[in-house]
Amino acid sequence: MVPTKEQVLECLSGVQAPNGQPLNRTGSLSEIVAGDGKVFFSISVDAGSVPQWEPVRKAAELAIRAMPGVTSVMVALTAERAPPAHAAAPPRQAAPHSHAARPGSAPPRSTQMPEGVKAIIAVASGKGGVGKSTTAVNIALGLRDLGLKVGILDADIYGPSIPKLLGIRGRPETVGGGTRLKPMTNYGLQVMSIGFLIEEETPMIWRGPMVMSALTQMLREVEWGETDIMVVDMPPGTGDAQLTMAQQVPLAGTVIVSTPQDLALIDARRGIAMFRRVDVPVLGIVENMSYFLCPHCGERSDIFSHGGARHEAERLSVPFLGEVPLDMALRETSDAGRPVVAVDPASRHSAIYREIASKVWDQVGPGRGAARQAPRIVVET
Ligand code: ADP
Repeated sequence: MVPTKEQVLECLSGVQAPNGQPLNRTGSLSEIVAGDGKVFFSISVDAGSVPQWEPVRKAAELAIRAMPGVTSVMVALTAERAPPAHAAAPPRQAAPHSHAARPGSAPPRSTQMPEGVKAIIAVASGKGGVGKSTTAVNIALGLRDLGLKVGILDADIYGPSIPKLLGIRGRPETVGGGTRLKPMTNYGLQVMSIGFLIEEETPMIWRGPMVMSALTQMLREVEWGETDIMVVDMPPGTGDAQLTMAQQVPLAGTVIVSTPQDLALIDARRGIAMFRRVDVPVLGIVENMSYFLCPHCGERSDIFSHGGARHEAERLSVPFLGEVPLDMALRETSDAGRPVVAVDPASRHSAIYREIASKVWDQVGPGRGAARQAPRIVVET
């Protein structure tokens, strides 16, 4: 028997808000998603009172987890109203020439790293379907092959594909019966995705603050342990949600994935502009589906007039990290949860991904990422 929304609400009547009111009567609960034993909702609070609400959030999670039939639960705190100006932390570095310096625009960037995590990079794209997640997974495996401890965080909450690409099923366990989760693992990577917590078919309406909160929890409420580098698979696009994430996750840099077509490059340009706006260094561009290498005759065809991304990288003064050919086998193995770098390390594609991974690590490894200054270039969008 899995609990209904009403039963979840009833259970929450036993949890007290900071003012002593039963939680279900505070008017701060979002819609409750309760299907198939998985429960998700958010509590909307004032940004300034988050510390008082955090124990309430945890208590709510514990109470619901104890309900019969509940297999996973995620309760998110969302701060819809800005804290008073004096309560805001200063930005990590001033950005006098960027949009971030405008009053009322970008909130300050978070600098707090999850415990044990040494560096976080994002893999982003201006639009969907360009191979961003495939690239993120294979870069993560390339970093693993450098002897690093690697985590991968699927922040693409609208279409989490990392569980599928890494062939991982099941639910994350909690640590010692508490609310913290253990990451899932495969191919030597530690993995967390919203896809482990909600059913793919569960219709979820993600409002901005819920997005942020779900991401923050996957970042901070998960036992990542010692992690040399965490790769975040960002949602595609350059909307508010992406901008907020770029600000809230303490990123050492970002990799932009683009296909060679003009349209995708325009989107990639927007992506670069967005990261620069929040002073996140762009580590470089990867051109995916760059050209077609015929598996039969070995002939190379530049289907999409390849080379656009390299040219664009030069024009925008960002590193060009590499070009990944279009390949049928890559698509098949990737979609079957068998990423090429893990299952066919001797292949040409694996060599390309490993090279991209080392170019990334060269820029964010010890002594480099921290010292690196974000480019002070303003790109108008
Ligand atoms: P995104 O994260 O940008 O939406 P995905 O990584 O999910 O994109 O890739 C979209 C589709 O393209 C998947 O079916 C994937 O297997 C395929 N794909 C990605 N890169 C390549 C490539 N270089 N050659 C062939 N297929 C690819």
